Amino acid sequence: MTLIPELTILQPDDKEHIDLPRTLEDELSVGKKRLYIESYGCQMNFADSEIVAAVMRNAGYATTSSADEADVIFLNTCAIRDNAEQKVRHRLKHLTGLKRQKPELLVGMLGCMAERLKTKLLEEEKVVDIVAGPDAYRDIPKLVEEAESGQKAVNVFLSREETYADISPIRLNSNGVTAFVSIMRGCDNMCSFCVVPFTRGRERSRDPFSIVREAQDLFDQGYREVTLLGQNVDSYKWELGVRSEELGVADRTGRPASANMDASATPNSSLLTTNTNTTTTFAHLLEMVAQIHPDLRVRFSTSHPKDITDDVLHTMARYDNICNYIHLPAQSGNSRVLKLMNRTYDRPWYIGKIDRIREILGEDCGISTDMISGFCTETEEEHQDSLSLMDYVHYDYAYMFAYSERPGTLAAKKYADDIPEDVKKRRLNEIIARQLAHSAERNQRHIGQVQRVLIEGPSKRSDDFLCGRNDQNKMVVFPKGDHQKGQYVNVLVTECTSATLRGEVVNA
Ligand code: SAM
Ligand code: SF4
Repeated sequence: MTLIPELTILQPDDKEHIDLPRTLEDELSVGKKRLYIESYGCQMNFADSEIVAAVMRNAGYATTSSADEADVIFLNTCAIRDNAEQKVRHRLKHLTGLKRQKPELLVGMLGCMAERLKTKLLEEEKVVDIVAGPDAYRDIPKLVEEAESGQKAVNVFLSREETYADISPIRLNSNGVTAFVSIMRGCDNMCSFCVVPFTRGRERSRDPFSIVREAQDLFDQGYREVTLLGQNVDSYKWELGVRSEELGVADRTGRPASANMDASATPNSSLLTTNTNTTTTFAHLLEMVAQIHPDLRVRFSTSHPKDITDDVLHTMARYDNICNYIHLPAQSGNSRVLKLMNRTYDRPWYIGKIDRIREILGEDCGISTDMISGFCTETEEEHQDSLSLMDYVHYDYAYMFAYSERPGTLAAKKYADDIPEDVKKRRLNEIIARQLAHSAERNQRHIGQVQRVLIEGPSKRSDDFLCGRNDQNKMVVFPKGDHQKGQYVNVLVTECTSATLRGEVVNA
């Protein structure tokens, strides 16, 4: 029997809930000072915390999963919406209590909220000792030393070059199967609602050799999926030059010359000989990472409708191990609102991109979006356009938000935040309800299909079941049998519940 009960689509509050801070792994810490990090917000922040942990380990710190045991506590913060900042401020209240019991404890604010508020944070939150923006992570040990000597320490300098390419992140709370790899930092897009260009600075791409090397290392350690991260991965661009040599990488695959490559991992030789001295685009990069090994799945996020190319779609079509899933945020379905948002595309352009995805990758390609309700001056009809765009696309999944004005953004300067909160909420609920229906339909398409699933570990509800994602990024749950984390299995989908597919392994 087919079940479609209580299919849950993430509501903004739920999303905040999943975004709840992650703690660090416990490491042996005899004689070492202990570091505890909480990360808030987007995947990029979680990836950044892994860089911070690596920097601090180099400075002699061990990590702990208990804030109570820590000598240094970092909150890696998000500033994207007001409620993200409120959550961090609430957390700081708790840390104030902790510091009262342990006055030598150091508290650092990292990331976007730190960058947005800079020294104001020190004035407003007395418990904070260290403020470090997203490009200042190499400087953190020095900032900690300064704070140990009793001074407040701040570095919110934004760089045009920093990509942390040479730092090997320490994987925190990892399942050992899937990992994030940052391919670029910052954003040049200036969407009018968004604070990211101000908190993360100018866009810059990371050396592709170092990216491939990191992905290869992950594969060698047993990881089977990498997600390439950037605010706008489609504008990834690298001119082949000296910096790759500085990084000590021997060939375009990112593998050191001495590495012992097996035949299946050997990249397509044409990729090594073509494009020398040319630009590496995102499509090239995807191909380079996909060629590491057919068993290494490749995902990426986020694509921008103005920049995603047919080249990227054709590259996805050519490689079975590049997942058939695209996160393509629309934000609104109305061309006037999109113009006010400075998204630089309109509704027909966005629909054209969806049509290309369907033509090149087929109906089964998973597509998700971000949607904002109640942006400045949005009318009821314009809101209806967002709903009708959703009807056109039938997204598999969506992140949905009520507009939250952010100080300093173009929208805050130019437009009145004039949609009452109750109207924003009602529109948001309509968007969520529509998405719920579409997700249910899209999930049902899989019933009766055999899906290739990468096992990530035991299911949340029972150790007798395992779970993992299919190509389209949907969680699939199935009886454990003899299967293990990190293996691929073929699962016949028989039911779908709560945004999860359920089924049975038909062959490994
Ligand atoms: N770079 C990605 C892109 O262009 O789609 C998104 C980055 S942003 C961290 C994630 C999402 O937060 C955005 O796509 C947008 O939907 C939402 N967002 C950003 N600023 C917002 C605001 N001021 N109010 C509500 N939602 C916002
Ligand atoms: Fe923000 Fe737009 Fe950049 Fe995304 S593309 S991070 S929404 S400015």
